Amino acid sequence: MSIRTRFAPSPTGYLHIGGVRTALFNWLFAKGQGGQFILRIDDTDAQRNVEEALAPILHGLKWVGLDWDEGPDVGGPHAPYYQSQRLEKYQAAVEQLLTTGAAYRDYAKPEELQAERDAAQQAGRPYVYSRKWRAKTDADAKRFEAEGRQGVVRLLMPREGQFVLNDLVRGEVRVDWASEQDHVIQRADGSCLYHLATVVDDNDMQISHVIRAEEHLSNTLRQVFMFERLGYELPQFAHLPYVAEPGSKTKLSKRKLDKYLKNRDFAQMMEHGQSIARRLGLTVAAETFNPVIVDFYEQVGYLPDALLNYLLLLGWSLDDKTEDFSRDEMLKHFSLERVNKAPASFDPEKLVAFESRAMQRLPIKHRVAKVVPFLQRAKLVTDPPPRETAPYVTRLLEAAGDRLKVVGDILDFDDFFVADEQLQFDDAALDKRIRKPAGATELLAKYRSELAIAEQFTPERLEQMTHAFVESQGIKIGDIVHAVRVAVTGKPIGFGLFDTLAILGRERCLARIDRALEIAAGGRTLNSGTI
Ligand code: GLU
Repeated sequence: MSIRTRFAPSPTGYLHIGGVRTALFNWLFAKGQGGQFILRIDDTDAQRNVEEALAPILHGLKWVGLDWDEGPDVGGPHAPYYQSQRLEKYQAAVEQLLTTGAAYRDYAKPEELQAERDAAQQAGRPYVYSRKWRAKTDADAKRFEAEGRQGVVRLLMPREGQFVLNDLVRGEVRVDWASEQDHVIQRADGSCLYHLATVVDDNDMQISHVIRAEEHLSNTLRQVFMFERLGYELPQFAHLPYVAEPGSKTKLSKRKLDKYLKNRDFAQMMEHGQSIARRLGLTVAAETFNPVIVDFYEQVGYLPDALLNYLLLLGWSLDDKTEDFSRDEMLKHFSLERVNKAPASFDPEKLVAFESRAMQRLPIKHRVAKVVPFLQRAKLVTDPPPRETAPYVTRLLEAAGDRLKVVGDILDFDDFFVADEQLQFDDAALDKRIRKPAGATELLAKYRSELAIAEQFTPERLEQMTHAFVESQGIKIGDIVHAVRVAVTGKPIGFGLFDTLAILGRERCLARIDRALEIAAGGRTLNSGTI
C-alpha cells in the first residue's frame, strides 16, 4: 500500500508552530518512504474569506519548504482539496449512513436537549440522550416537521462494548462506546460537520495514515465508527503530543502572549525580533508577529531548516544525543515509533541555539545570499546591489562569526553600510571613550596619522601597528582601541577591531575618525541628539 498522509488546516489566518510540527511529521513520514503528502483545507466552518485566511498558511508551509504533492495550487487526482467544494460527497455519505441505520434524523429542540442534560447533572449521572425525538420512520419525521421542528442528522452510536484503537504513537487506546454521544453530522440547514467531512475525504483521498495532534484523539471514535459503517478501509492513526508552553505542559496558544512574555527567554526572543522588525520598517501586529506563529521567524530571518530541526526534536528523537539533522537526515531517520507520548515545552533558548548552529553550518555563500535582501529592505544596500556588495558582506560575515544568529542580525552591523557622514554615534560611548578622558582626542588624532600611512591595511598589519603605537606612546592597549572603535563604528562593542578597520578600509576609517573628533570637539554634526 502506498503511504499517503495529509495536513488538514482550517483557514485560521495564521500558521501555528505546532501546526508546522504536525505538517513536518506527516511530510517526513510520507516522503521518507516514497509516499505522498497531501494538503487539504478543512473549511466546512469557514466564516470569513477563505483565500485570505488561507494565504498565510500556504505561505508559511512554502517558506519552511514542506511541499505538497496534491492540494491547493497544485491540484491532483482527488481535487478539489477544499472541503467547502466537496459538499455533494458529504451529502451522499449522510444518505448512506441514514439508509443503513448508522445515523438518524433527530428533531429535538435545543432546550429539550438542555433539559435532559440538566436532569442528568442533577441526578449525578452521565448524560445520555433519550433519543426521544429520533425519527425512526418517514411518518415520524413528517409528524415532527408538522410540529414545526427542524431535523439534524445524528450518528446512532453504540452504547455497549469498548472501542479499541491501536494508535501508532500512543499504543492501545480503549474507550467505552457509552461515553460517546450521538454526534450531529449534518445541521438543520444541510451543512455537514468536520467529522463527517474528514472521514469522507480521508477515504476518498486514500489517506493511509492520519497523523495529527492529540486533541483529535477523542474525535477518532466517532470517525472510526463512520469509517466502518460507510464500509471504508480504516487508515492508521497516530496522535502526536502537542507543543506545550514554555515551562509547562499546557498547549501553546497564540492568544497567551502576555503570559509567555513573563518567561525570560520568550521575552528575549520577542524583543530581539521586534528590534529587527523595527529596523526593517515593518509594522507588526501582535496578531501575527509572535513566536507562536511561523511568520515571526520568516520576518526576523530564522533559517527554515533550523526551525524544522528544532520542531522535529520537540516530540521525536533518534537517540539521546543527536541534535542536528539536515533535511535529508530527517527524512532518513524519522519514524513514528520514536515519537514521544508526552508533550514537550517550547523552549526559545534551545530554538535559538539550533538556529545559531544552523547558521554557522550554512556555507558562507548562502549566508551572504540570505543577508543581502535584508540589507536592501533596511535600505542599507541598493537593489540590485553593487558588484562589491557580495565580497564586502562575505568579509563582514566571516568576521562576525556566531554573532549572526538570525539573518536579521546583519542589521546590527548597519554601521558598515551607512555613509561616513551619516554614521550615528552612541553619545554615551563617545563621551566615555573620546570626549571625556584627558588626552583621548590627541591620542586618537595621533593614531589617525599612523593609520594614514600604514603600509598594508590588513588585520594582521593593523594589529602590529597598533601594538607598536601603544608601546611608543607608553599607554595601555585599552586607552586607544575603545576610542578607535567608537570613532569608526559609532558603537561601543563589536567584533575584532582590526577586522573592523580592514573591512571598512583606510579612507572610511580616516573620514570617520575625523568626524568623531569634530563632534567630540563640539562641531556641527548630523548625529541625533548632539546638534
Ligand atoms: N482541521 C483540523 C485542524 O485544523 C484537522 C483535523 C485532522 O487532522 O483530522 O485541527
